Amino acid sequence: MGRAVTGSTRLAALIGSPVRHSLSPTILNAAFAAVDADWVFLVFDIPAGRGAHAIAAVRELGIGGLSVTMPHKAAAHDAVDERTPVAAALGAVNCVCWRGDRLLGDNTDGVGFVDALRADEGIDPAGLRCVVVGAGGAGRAVALALGDAGAADVAIVNRSPEPAARAAILAGERGRVGSPADVGGADLVVNATPLGMGVVTTADGTPEPLPLDPAALHPGQVVVDLIYDPATTPLLAAARDQGAVAVNGLGMLIHQAAHGFRRWTGEDPPLEAMSAAAVAQLTRLMG
Ligand code: NAP
Repeated sequence: MGRAVTGSTRLAALIGSPVRHSLSPTILNAAFAAVDADWVFLVFDIPAGRGAHAIAAVRELGIGGLSVTMPHKAAAHDAVDERTPVAAALGAVNCVCWRGDRLLGDNTDGVGFVDALRADEGIDPAGLRCVVVGAGGAGRAVALALGDAGAADVAIVNRSPEPAARAAILAGERGRVGSPADVGGADLVVNATPLGMGVVTTADGTPEPLPLDPAALHPGQVVVDLIYDPATTPLLAAARDQGAVAVNGLGMLIHQAAHGFRRWTGEDPPLEAMSAAAVAQLTRLMG
């Protein structure tokens, strides 16, 4: 049995749209329960264009912490009182907490990615040659975090050139626009596109393509797909077939949630409980 909700229970929440499928309530309510924190986590489906109003509601209601997902990350960036340097560089906020009576916006996707690599896989990106395929919100956050973590090379490969150039700048002096030919020489390859979720439809009805040519993958490489549902994407299956280490995006999700938990409650996140709850929920969803 969990703690009873009382008049002193604190609320943390997620805003986004669509958002009902989110694993965040499962992960964070498991975390609160594991440390017996008097908190509850709920999800609010907020339509596009209403993000600033939701931030105003956080102020008005004294909501203790907020996670933010699409399409509100830019609006949250603009609506908070202060931003961490990472959130300011990305122009996107996915985690809001209180600093005194001011709302602080952070972006924990990139640090969550690096934490997952270090803690779960024992891999430090420092000195690694990296390829990031995709230059949207997640690709940008990962590029910035890899640059901050001391990667030797951060090559951004993307369908559209302009987002690739902007993401490369975020990775600092080691960032550059790359091409598919960079994949073979990389130590770490990251898929930050939705290719692999089975949601991309092609005009002629052909199956969803892979984000990169798996023939370029080989033993000694680590391939991370930011997708976690399905747990094994076609890219990760191909990477394993090629002898590479294959890692999905669940660790990133858990570790970015852990940053929110720490900021909101001031307590160490119970990572094992968070991970176990996420895996159980994904297993249930797969039926
Ligand atoms: P986004 O902002 O929409 O960016 C999508 C990126 O993928 C863009 O660079 C886009 O290229 C590229 N792309 C989309 N469709 C493509 C296609 N058919 N062929 C080639 N490239 C394509 O999305 P996002 O928020 O960055 O999310 C990207 C992925 O990361 C999603 O699968 C998401 O679920 C995952 N994610 C995971 C976590 C986690 O915690 N594990 C966190 C955040 C995101 P263009 O620039 O050419 O449009």
